[in-house]
Amino acid sequence: MADAPTRVAILGSTGSIGRQTLEIIAAHPDRLQLVGLAARSRIETLAQQAKAFHPALVAVWDVAKAQALASLLGPRPVLAGTDGLIALATDPRVDVVVVASSGSEALLPVMRAIQAGKRIALASKELLVMAGELIMRLIQEHGTTLLPVDSEHAALFQCLQGVARERVSRLTITGSGGPLWSVPAEAMGAVTRQQVLAHPKWRMGPKITVDSATLMNKGLELIEAQWLFGLEFSRLRAVIHPEAVVHGLVELVDGTILAQMSPCDMRIPIQFALSFPERWATPAPPLEITRLGALRFVEPDLERFPCLGLAMEAARQGGTACVALNGANDTAVHAYLQDQLRFAEIPRVIAQTLEHHHPEPHPTLDDILAVDAWARATAQEFIGSWAAH
Ligand code: MG
Repeated sequence: MADAPTRVAILGSTGSIGRQTLEIIAAHPDRLQLVGLAARSRIETLAQQAKAFHPALVAVWDVAKAQALASLLGPRPVLAGTDGLIALATDPRVDVVVVASSGSEALLPVMRAIQAGKRIALASKELLVMAGELIMRLIQEHGTTLLPVDSEHAALFQCLQGVARERVSRLTITGSGGPLWSVPAEAMGAVTRQQVLAHPKWRMGPKITVDSATLMNKGLELIEAQWLFGLEFSRLRAVIHPEAVVHGLVELVDGTILAQMSPCDMRIPIQFALSFPERWATPAPPLEITRLGALRFVEPDLERFPCLGLAMEAARQGGTACVALNGANDTAVHAYLQDQLRFAEIPRVIAQTLEHHHPEPHPTLDDILAVDAWARATAQEFIGSWAAH
């Protein structure tokens, strides 16, 4: 007898991960069923997705857009705001919540979903960066599972199956180095937007593509890995691996290294988070190892990529230092994308914000949200004052 399909809700369905999750659901109609769709504000795309997949629940975070979305849909009831996202994520018809929204609006809905016993497939690294301690404690208390969708963490998660934590000596995540890896130090100040947004390996949204160019993405991933796998920060590292074939490596105490290899196709880790512990065929093209050539693994250059060093420093400080880092980075990247800030000034905004922050080691949700708002406002002030000159 076939098992009942896994019922999926997606927070952040209109972004890159959300759209690829829908592809996976469409490819496995007997195994996966879409029951909920939520997006921040792109209601035209959300309405198209709802018409194609007929989910029971549709939610938009931006309350002002709920009316327009309802009329696009026919009309039908639409959930809205944080309460709407919570109602969707905790609905009894949902088994797994895919968290693909990059903003902090998903934080409270995800916490409520965990409390309702839902499995979480987490693509948004910001949530663990901001609230790793709180989220992991809730996961433990409610006996549910957090499955990483980020490719490096999915790699580590796979290598760690059946491995006791005390046998692990180190976890390594890889990064392709992003679009600027081969740009010399003296040219970093003059990189163009085309260079920054032309990622060599992965097709992603603009925010994470900029984070890949600064290597902040690796920094956020190290913080994420620390919470997901419960290891102290000193036993985690990021290395540059330009071929982007190996996504994560687990070093064991006896000298063995377990590594995960796969093509750069997010549909693989997205699907694994939904199929786990099973594995299903994917539409991703196979990796032909005889065509790979040499694989390089090199230390990241923290002088050319100061954002990675800033993230490592925030991780060492712990607590709300990571919240301030994330809020300042998000603000700086959006200012850069809107032409209000130069690329080389992104780390400066983050460093200045962190300098003005006194971290709270074990923050509550209210502390986290307050520091997030403070960091965004403080970063925006620096950006505004520099733009004035
Ligand atoms: Mg990643």
